[in-house]
Amino acid sequence: MKRHSLILALGLAAACLAAPASAKTLKIVASFSVLADVVHEIGGQSVEVKSLVGPNGDPHEFEPSPTDAKTLKTADLVFVSGEGLEGWMERLITASGYAGKPVVVSDGIKTRTMEEDGQMLTDPHVWNSPVNVEIWVANIEKALETADPTSAAHFKANAERYTAKLKALNVEAHRKLDDVAQSDRKILTSHDAFGYFGAEYGVTFLAPIGLSTETEASAADVAKLIDQIKAEKVKAYFFENSNDSRLVKQIAQATGAAPGGELFVESLSPADGPAPTYLKMFSHNLDLISAALAQRS
Ligand SMILES: [Zn+2]
Repeated sequence: MKRHSLILALGLAAACLAAPASAKTLKIVASFSVLADVVHEIGGQSVEVKSLVGPNGDPHEFEPSPTDAKTLKTADLVFVSGEGLEGWMERLITASGYAGKPVVVSDGIKTRTMEEDGQMLTDPHVWNSPVNVEIWVANIEKALETADPTSAAHFKANAERYTAKLKALNVEAHRKLDDVAQSDRKILTSHDAFGYFGAEYGVTFLAPIGLSTETEASAADVAKLIDQIKAEKVKAYFFENSNDSRLVKQIAQATGAAPGGELFVESLSPADGPAPTYLKMFSHNLDLISAALAQRS
């Protein structure tokens, strides 16, 4: 700890003495687009970030290419969210010959567990609450600082600025959702990706697919879900940008739930879409969800 502080202090001193930007550009690989965006926000001009899973891609199910292995091998730092999201990463690291250890940015987040088929599983979708992304930011800042102490002041300033935006987003989400009657805060989506959003803002999300899009819903699960949606009077449903929407559409039709639009759950849109950054993705989802819930009563 002491040594770290010393390195940090030296780094800060060096950053103050030297030109504002470090000459060094860190080559960074992030597992998926949401994380790549946040790393880029903190790293600024001192980093070059490549996302393995691209826009609209599914981070649970990903088949890395030989090019991905090459990119990984030459990276200065590799970032993953962790908690079981990127089941494919370990194989890719082994295949690539990358010598380092990936930085797990969700370390320190209080995770939720869910029962699925008799097993307790950790929910990896931490970023759907901006409160958790503050911990991502702290972990990212620390890892960047260690890799390039001369840019420590730059990373710190970026982290502070971005954290303020995350806090403002959280306040806005509470402002938009806290007044909706608790019994009305229910939504149907494709898979269980909104547990942390639900916990923070008191919204219940129902979904036919579990925590990973790699699982499948049985006919019995779907029938049970349809009954539950009718019993709980869930009136809005959403597609997800990064997976198949047929099942959720079928269920919605059987229950009379109305479409609320497309949520960006674990993947950004391309640059010209509605969710090209994490902040825009969260705002887009919040706007759609709060509009759908407002129509309830
Ligand atoms: Zn997911």
